[in-house]
Amino acid sequence: MDSRSNPLHEAADALSPFFTPEHEMLRDQVRRFVETEVKPHGEAWEAQGYVPRDVLRRMGSLGFFGIRYPESYGGSQMDTLGSAVLAEELGRSTFSGLAITALVHTDMASVHVFNAGSEAQKAKWMRKIIAGEAICAVAVTEPDAGSDVKSIRTTAQERDDGFVLNGAKMFITNGVYADLYCVAAKTGGLAGGSKAVTMFLVEKGTPGFRVGRALDKHGWRSSDTAELLFENCFVPREAVLGEVGRGFYAIMRNFQNERIVIAAMAMGEARAALELTVDYVKTRKAFGAPLWDKQAIRQRLAQRAAEVEAGRQLVYSVAWRDARGHDVTREVSMAKAYCGDLVNKVMYDCLQFHGGMGFMRGSVIERMARDARVQAIGGGATEVMLEEVAKRL
Ligand SMILES: Cc1cc2nc3c(=O)[nH]c(=O)nc-3n(C[C@H](O)[C@H](O)[C@H](O)COP(=O)(O)OP(=O)(O)OC[C@H]3O[C@@H](n4cnc5c(N)ncnc54)[C@H](O)[C@@H]3O)c2cc1C
Repeated sequence: MDSRSNPLHEAADALSPFFTPEHEMLRDQVRRFVETEVKPHGEAWEAQGYVPRDVLRRMGSLGFFGIRYPESYGGSQMDTLGSAVLAEELGRSTFSGLAITALVHTDMASVHVFNAGSEAQKAKWMRKIIAGEAICAVAVTEPDAGSDVKSIRTTAQERDDGFVLNGAKMFITNGVYADLYCVAAKTGGLAGGSKAVTMFLVEKGTPGFRVGRALDKHGWRSSDTAELLFENCFVPREAVLGEVGRGFYAIMRNFQNERIVIAAMAMGEARAALELTVDYVKTRKAFGAPLWDKQAIRQRLAQRAAEVEAGRQLVYSVAWRDARGHDVTREVSMAKAYCGDLVNKVMYDCLQFHGGMGFMRGSVIERMARDARVQAIGGGATEVMLEEVAKRL
């Protein structure tokens, strides 16, 4: 069923105070793309472990990779709500591996190039990024440092003409197939904490930089994830993204956008799961009647639908305020914590009401439940987000 035909969601979209006709056009365009070009092929991408490059180029040609960037580079210069729309609709595709492949490129990695890059770096890369010809990854996490970014141990030792990188990066989305990597390393010594972190732009093929291994995952199986290794990898001075010693602040700044996007994606996933579960329980019969006739089932789904609606509205209002330059650090953390947890509660219930079928490989809800798990971990684990909220209460 085309999820657009679900009256619950159509009404909610049409009445939103947050969106302009431009946002709604984008939403329709992404939905059409999902129905015709994602759903028929998503299972094949899950099996092969990555999204083919021609699909990413196609997304580039449809304008999905330039939503936040200026027209001078080929973008459409929309606001944070544009990213939220893209993320929510890709999340609703039920193929979150595809969603995260695209969203890391657009909203988590290439933002480092755009926000901190020199004119020369942007002139060289932004058009290719927007066209889907150069795919980006962001490499911050390491085997021994994830939530605690300032504890990274990859070093960048300064020489006259540049820097020499040594270290390992872990769990890097688009890690195997990207062309361009925004890499965090310490220029100020390992003891230097946050002020020692610098971001570098490292191109695939740079001597001393290689993919250690592709990682096998519980979910997001069509998203490629890798361990990366830097072994005496020389990069010229022009590879610094922004200022030396300012990388931690760039990461924290870009995290705000990343977390809004992840929260929006999670709410898209939750909506899709509720839609397909409502459809399922209306047709599946037990004890002489559809499961929908059991008050316990329909009330649980109604409760989750209410929570998801609250989550969506929180994400939209945070995106709206972010677009207007408000400081929404606390609310972004709230949205990430709330939506990352909620999507897992929704998946638990939706899988439960699919019964044994929900536990079978090949059922959509089984894949979606696996995919959702990481939403409470990646991009700031729920507990870390709650600490950010608590600090600001
Ligand atoms: C599929 C996938 C894709 C990813 N993609 C990328 C990427 O593209 N680039 C990148 O740089 N990173 C990426 N990551 C890394 C991700 O952001 C980290 O996994 C995440 O930040 C958590 O770090 P960690 O795994 O080291 O967990 P740890 O920091 O070791 O934490 C483990 C757990 O401890 C708890 N915890 C941590 N800190 C606190 C605290 N202060 N209080 C209470 N509890 C706490 C949380 O429950 C957390 O899940 C990805 C991860 C996954 C799984």
